[in-house]
Amino acid sequence: MSATIIDGRAMAARVRAQVALDVASFVAQTGRTPGLATVLVGDDAASAVYVGGKQKACAEVGIRGFDHRLPADVSLETVLALIDELNADQQVSGVLCQLPVPDHLDGAGITNRVDVRKDVDGLTIASAGRLALGLDGFVGATPAGVMLLLAEADVPLAGAEAVVIGRSNLFGKPMAQLLLRAHATVTICHSRTGDLAAACRRADILIAAVGVPGLVRGDWVKPGATVIDVGVTRVDGGLAGDVDFAAAVQIAAAITPVPGGVGPMTIACLLRNTLTAAKMHA
Ligand code: NAP
Repeated sequence: MSATIIDGRAMAARVRAQVALDVASFVAQTGRTPGLATVLVGDDAASAVYVGGKQKACAEVGIRGFDHRLPADVSLETVLALIDELNADQQVSGVLCQLPVPDHLDGAGITNRVDVRKDVDGLTIASAGRLALGLDGFVGATPAGVMLLLAEADVPLAGAEAVVIGRSNLFGKPMAQLLLRAHATVTICHSRTGDLAAACRRADILIAAVGVPGLVRGDWVKPGATVIDVGVTRVDGGLAGDVDFAAAVQIAAAITPVPGGVGPMTIACLLRNTLTAAKMHA
């Protein structure tokens, strides 16, 4: 048996097309254009590529982009002053600071400075708290994108055993909260988990977000499981996920590839969050 491949590119294209339509009608109704401000500190090449991709995607759906770049040795006060300025700017619907920031800066403090109404990355303490309490609020684009992929693939969540490998604030924790909210039984694994293979073998839904290529072996996958590979690591031949895809595809019922699975959904959901923020402000 070979698993169904969950096509994140196709799903993301549909989300983006819908956002473009919704942006056009929002502009027609309100006379306002949604805006996304990105803040990039330093000259990390990968981060610059991610920010460039986000800005380009904004332009494609009619969202105005505000692309702020600061030198690597910038002071924390200067970054926070910029965030304050963006929080107050009526043209800016959403604000995100690309992580990681250089070591001398407090990344969590910077992301937490974003106005909760503009927190399109869902990284403020208020947004994380609202998610944990089951209240409405912004949810990070990657976990939100995974939920859309699971829905698209018709994966039953209520009562399912879900295992999330990775407990980052950016992905693992919000992902676990979303699955819990959808009534899955959720296990969060991490680098200190005693028997990772055994935990994975219980999973009806297995989500890996680690950044170690091939960590999840084929024989860790429960037959018929849905496997979502969030990991992205640059290797010689391109990008590698956390799952041994060639082996897992023989055992799972459905699986996301890398590239072309979760990655494209992240930008699509960021655009969606930005439009939601603009609607809230209007
Ligand atoms: P992170 O903050 O580095 O977190 C990695 C997590 O993996 C940590 O919780 C860590 O455990 C755990 N871990 C590390 N080694 C492990 C091991 N051998 N066994 C089990 N768990 C292990 O990373 P992140 O920001 O969540 O991102 C994770 C991966 O997803 C990266 O490859 C990243 O590039 C990718 N990602 C992709 C997208 C996308 O749009 N496609 C978006 C976000 C992230 P400890 O907590 O114990 O250290």
